[in-house]
Amino acid sequence: MRPARAAPATSARAATPAAEGVAGTAHRPRRTCVGCRTTTEADGLLRLALAGTDAVVPDVRRRLGGRGAWLHADAACLALAVRRRALPRALRVPGPLATDAVAEHLAAAGGPGTS
Ligand SMILES: [Zn+2]
Repeated sequence: MRPARAAPATSARAATPAAEGVAGTAHRPRRTCVGCRTTTEADGLLRLALAGTDAVVPDVRRRLGGRGAWLHADAACLALAVRRRALPRALRVPGPLATDAVAEHLAAAGGPGTS
């Protein structure tokens, strides 16, 4: 039995395309949501940044340094990102990341669907 759609064995190419650090092209930047992996204009996504080494926070003004991860302002996308551990991968840290601040931000933003 062959594995159906198993996770790629090599991680290098499977993650987001190496577009980070190439921001600032003439056209509107496009980013991939770490939750649902849909590519959208960055304007439609919330930037998440690392806070310390074990938490992420919403970077609403996009002024925090370091790596960022992009997420739809949607609790479902956050849940997806957490479930697949996309955030540590996107931010290049080994451990699990607390996303409480992001969840609170999304809740405060007034989306339906609390859980
Ligand atoms: Zn999404």
